[in-house]
Amino acid sequence: LLVAEDLRKSFGATSALDGAWLEVDAGEVVAVMGPSGSGKSTLLHCIAGIVRPDSGRVFFDGREVSLMGDAERSALRRAQFGFVFQFGQLVPELTCLENVALPLRLERTRRREAERRAGEWLERLEVGDVAGKRPGEVSGGQGQRVAVARALVTSPKVIFADEPTGALDSFNGERVMRLLTTAARESHAAVVLVTHEARVAAYSDREVVVRDGRTRDMARTAS
Ligand code: ATP
Ligand code: MG
Repeated sequence: LLVAEDLRKSFGATSALDGAWLEVDAGEVVAVMGPSGSGKSTLLHCIAGIVRPDSGRVFFDGREVSLMGDAERSALRRAQFGFVFQFGQLVPELTCLENVALPLRLERTRRREAERRAGEWLERLEVGDVAGKRPGEVSGGQGQRVAVARALVTSPKVIFADEPTGALDSFNGERVMRLLTTAARESHAAVVLVTHEARVAAYSDREVVVRDGRTRDMARTAS
């Protein structure tokens, strides 16, 4: 579904990616691990079409993302991808329900239909009770579950999650991961999960390690 070949990206004199490769099959959950500064987020941004690599190629569904113009890439992102970050991704002025409905509203879904579907997703992520609250009025774990609902509401083919549990304690982190991976599997969405934590990576089907901007495939250790 997603293929990244030999990605390289520098920021000034800093080489962030120096030959990164990644393949993600439809519905697969892949954990991207590695030390701080190794290039994990840059890799995620390149394969999600947010950052353009200096060289290398990215394909989604056989289409070469690295050749697309900005408008085509952002249309692809809106239609096919969902994003969950560590924090600060919900619009503070909107209620949680409106936040989840927002991607559908941007696709011109009518408000009632968008809010009905948003409400269903909040229920699935076990945060139906915070629908009317603003993000500033909910806990960190609740906010991340709202963010996961918002990432999934458009039925994307891929969820990109960069340290989705990074700001949570282990109990809430595990709850977010369980709900995220269950919902993604039910919707046949692939997940590209950037994390430091082995306990979080344990929710994946496969791990890829990034070191100094280069990727290495790891066999899943039997548990
Ligand atoms: P962390 O685990 O701390 O989030 P990471 O593995 O996600 O780290 P990246 O954010 O991909 O690492 O950064 C890789 C390297 O590129 C680092 O040396 C970082 O300082 C540099 N870098 C990343 N983004 C930028 C940027 N926008 N401008 C300049 N340097 C950057
Ligand atoms: Mg990062």
